Amino acid sequence: MSTKYKNNLEEEKRNLEIELSAIAKRDDTTGNWQAVPASQTAPEADENDMASRAEDFEERSAIVDTLGKRLRDTQDAMKRIEDNKFGKCETCGDAIEEERLDVNPSARKCMICMNLV
Ligand SMILES: [Zn+2]
Repeated sequence: MSTKYKNNLEEEKRNLEIELSAIAKRDDTTGNWQAVPASQTAPEADENDMASRAEDFEERSAIVDTLGKRLRDTQDAMKRIEDNKFGKCETCGDAIEEERLDVNPSARKCMICMNLV
């Protein structure tokens, strides 16, 4: 039953890593992704560029945070498949609705518990 989700998750993981590697680099010790400033590709710039680059970097950092979190969720879900815990709500222990897993295979909670938050 979890085979299709495993494939989905593996694909999601690959895509996330590709997106991340375009704007960030992985810290080998922690495994965390860190945004790389765009300035590293354009060494010469005036003050206006400095300002817009800073904005870019914040923007990048925000994107890297979001993607990094999705990557962790995806990896966690892959681990749950390995451990045979996949598809169980981590709050009530019931099976997570299949429609829900189809949309988001890394879902941790069933619809009911999700709506309680
Ligand atoms: Zn639940």
